[in-house]
Amino acid sequence: MTLFKSPTPGVVIYGTSILSMIDGMGAFKNNALKILEENGIKNIKPNNLYSQQKFLNSLKIIYEKLGDVTIKVIGMKIPEKVQLPSNIETIDQILNSIDRIYNMNHRGGDCGSYEFKKTSNNEGFMIVDTPYPCAFDMGLIEAFMNKFREDGSLTFINHHSEECRMNGSSSCTYKVKW
Ligand SMILES: [Zn+2]
Repeated sequence: MTLFKSPTPGVVIYGTSILSMIDGMGAFKNNALKILEENGIKNIKPNNLYSQQKFLNSLKIIYEKLGDVTIKVIGMKIPEKVQLPSNIETIDQILNSIDRIYNMNHRGGDCGSYEFKKTSNNEGFMIVDTPYPCAFDMGLIEAFMNKFREDGSLTFINHHSEECRMNGSSSCTYKVKW
């Protein structure tokens, strides 16, 4: 999927995710609000829907200005507020549900996918094909795993594929371990 480009015209995203992005900007919240407004997103309410393309345009500007670390922090904020399907208790279950959660938070057509392939008890691959930047998705997946981590255990995510969406590939593959 092409970076920063909504794959289907008319895809919309719930305000909750946009509000998480603003949270992730920390001391730069006002900058985030200004960038969003300049890109046509304002008066953000959790349950209202906004153009995914306008959100991606705003994220692109933030990425160009502030880089991977900020984009990763924004990704890590998403799991805090997002509504989860019921009955998720383990890291396995959350990794298998990210695709569904992503599609619950976007409306209006194909917007990409998260495919989890378990390779052993506590390891697997996550293949991500979305228009969001690589660091955003790495932060998002890590934070979802940490949400269901048992006390005293650790989680890991590494970029496994040489191909990366940041270099024009259509997907990134991450190795996850817990
Ligand atoms: Zn990547």
